[in-house]
Amino acid sequence: MKLFHYEQKLCDSFLLYLLQSLMAVRKVRCPQCGEDALWAPENPHRPFCSLRCKQIDLGCWASDEYRIPVAPDNNDLGSEIPDATNHA
Ligand SMILES: [Zn+2]
Repeated sequence: MKLFHYEQKLCDSFLLYLLQSLMAVRKVRCPQCGEDALWAPENPHRPFCSLRCKQIDLGCWASDEYRIPVAPDNNDLGSEIPDATNHA
């Protein structure tokens, strides 16, 4: 009876250790919010923690913040000024 209890306890702690090590491997840090994100087939948005974070990140890449700045308008304006003076 006493032995059984000890073995049961040992088994529980081993399972807990196994579960914890498994959880540690399957968790990553969400690149968007820094929260723990599940790295598993259950999380289709990995490495993000949720669809919201995934969409925010994709939105950033599509926005002007991440684009290489190009200024074709300035060139057009520059060529228009001498043209206007020629007419006048
Ligand atoms: Zn997140």
